[in-house]
Amino acid sequence: MAPRIKALDTVVVNKIAAGEIIVAPANAIKEMLENSIDAGSTTVDVVVKDGGLKLLQIADNGCGIDKDDLPILCERFTTSKLSTFEDLAAIATYGFRGEALASISHIAHVMVTTRTPDSPVGYRATYADGKLVPARPGASAEPKPTAARPGTQIVVEDLFYNVPSRLRAFRSPADEYNRIADVVGRYAIHTAGVGFTCKKQGESQYSVLVPAQASAADRIRAVFGGSIANELVEVAVAADPALGLVGGSGWVTNANYSAKKNHQPVFFINHRLVTCDPLKKALVGIYQAFLPKGGHAFMYVALQIAPDRLDVNVHPTKREVRFMNEDEIVQRVCDALQQALGAVDESRSYKVQTVIYDGPTLAPPSSAPSKRPYEYNLVRTDAKERKITSMFERTSRPDEAEGYVRVERERAPVHLASVKGLRERVSADAHAGLTELLTNHTFVGVVDDEKRLAALQHDVKLFLVDYGALTNELFYQIGLADFANFGVIELAPPLALDDLLRLATDDDVAAFRDSLVDRRDMLDEYFSVQITADGLLTGLPMLIKGYLPSMGKLPTFLQRLATRVDWADETECFRTFMRELALFYVPQSLPDGDVEPSQADAVAAQRQTTHAALEKLLFPAIARRLVATAGLLPSVVEIASLPGLYKVFERC
Ligand code: ADP
Ligand code: MG
Repeated sequence: MAPRIKALDTVVVNKIAAGEIIVAPANAIKEMLENSIDAGSTTVDVVVKDGGLKLLQIADNGCGIDKDDLPILCERFTTSKLSTFEDLAAIATYGFRGEALASISHIAHVMVTTRTPDSPVGYRATYADGKLVPARPGASAEPKPTAARPGTQIVVEDLFYNVPSRLRAFRSPADEYNRIADVVGRYAIHTAGVGFTCKKQGESQYSVLVPAQASAADRIRAVFGGSIANELVEVAVAADPALGLVGGSGWVTNANYSAKKNHQPVFFINHRLVTCDPLKKALVGIYQAFLPKGGHAFMYVALQIAPDRLDVNVHPTKREVRFMNEDEIVQRVCDALQQALGAVDESRSYKVQTVIYDGPTLAPPSSAPSKRPYEYNLVRTDAKERKITSMFERTSRPDEAEGYVRVERERAPVHLASVKGLRERVSADAHAGLTELLTNHTFVGVVDDEKRLAALQHDVKLFLVDYGALTNELFYQIGLADFANFGVIELAPPLALDDLLRLATDDDVAAFRDSLVDRRDMLDEYFSVQITADGLLTGLPMLIKGYLPSMGKLPTFLQRLATRVDWADETECFRTFMRELALFYVPQSLPDGDVEPSQADAVAAQRQTTHAALEKLLFPAIARRLVATAGLLPSVVEIASLPGLYKVFERC
């Protein structure tokens, strides 16, 4: 007999939901700190017992909670910060879900004492499973008048008492306490005008003690110590409305400071403590040029981003944040950091020496892959390119053909298991050493346009890399990361699929064209490949802003979309599609040797464009975004170590 499906008991559902939001005492304190700050408090005091598992107490002097609101305070989706769906997009605080207190009340005993400034008395209420309950058996559940100072005190006892599996996972109350104090310290750094304390119950010494009037540097000194606070420089990030960037600021250690201890960067986005791995990776990469090996900087960066550009609900604890134009905003912060570091100490901020390789004898390393999986254009594409160029020229000025537009649209959250699965495959293949090398490389120059080889410097070593392979993986990963959220390269004028396909194949192109036109909705929604009902190609995805794929490869790309993509299976469809997309965007191989005289100018121009794109766009994107997979190992070959070279030169 088939098992019957039963609806879960709502208490069980709520407990599960609570466990996703509050996974440790530090999550609970974070939510309560945000509430106290949102309430306009100027002091927030935290007391903890047994790592927060026995007691978490937070007292503030904020606006308090109206007595009439107390009965529903701990119900899910009750919040004073959100009343209509439209508010969701506009609200400045994003602790808006009204779930925190409810969640806590499902997995702990909660007591709230609160007084609004206009009320002569305070009120005390106790909660379980989202509802008011009597403080003692037999008593009434109604909030009771009590003497209290204006503000709110919330006492959370026996966290996870009814989730034994979770409780067993906590080994050490000391670790949990440190995590709590860490969260309080981070909010103290960010929240000017508010004083914070945090201590263990029964102890007189505070782990965090920050007065309300403390300056930013004072706050960092109180939390992370004088050695950091004495070496700070200020970072300012200018607003850019087009990116949804409202502004940014921060304090970071200068190039003279380097510590063995690695503090997680303090990142706030719209006043919420978050992690943002792309930002962290990029900033750490900048310091690597300044700091000795194994040295770490301290970073505090706060960004304000237009709330409608944020996707905060990617993670139940709201810790992980994604936003639109992430790559460009990260770049702005990097520029600001670089400026701040450069401004402080010119003498220390040395420029990485550039080594120009111009020896003609460099043969491709024997370990380079003989099969080039990213290559489909063994036939030179120049002829096609010229035909396509002339298609554009027939109706438009060339600069229009080159134009791209920024398409404003909300970041679409991607919940597809297939895409997540593909992203996980990339992470599983990640090679840490190679990723680090590429993150911190210095671009030296293109070595061979035909074999697509470039030279990179890392530390004191020189590497030869196959940029065809690297950019292929880069574009594939950008495809996965920005899936359904690409910008658009608008083709002006649109090009007829039939004309394009005829350049790629002698077969009848109608079937190819129809298979693409039939799928046009999906192609647009997921990949920004825009096709009209009557078979005109009007847009292509913008994988990296400012980078245009070589139009000579467009016909082959379209033909392969129709023939090589597995449309039947979702995961395979996305995977094969994005592999094809990546092939298309990889810079094309250019003839190195003899070129027909009539083509020499065109090839020279193309070479210049490609070199500039590699230096200004593609290798910087590799540094910022590429998770190098083990499969790329053969594409990066060490060719020299500089100390070795210097020795050779000395002998000469
Ligand atoms: P949210 O913060 O998403 O609104 P919470 O469950 O964290 O949801 O809080 C629910 C509501 O309780 C808040 O909207 C606020 O009105 C009120 N509240 C919670 N903590 C405090 C506090 N310390 N001071 C004043 N009001 C509070
Ligand atoms: Mg809240």
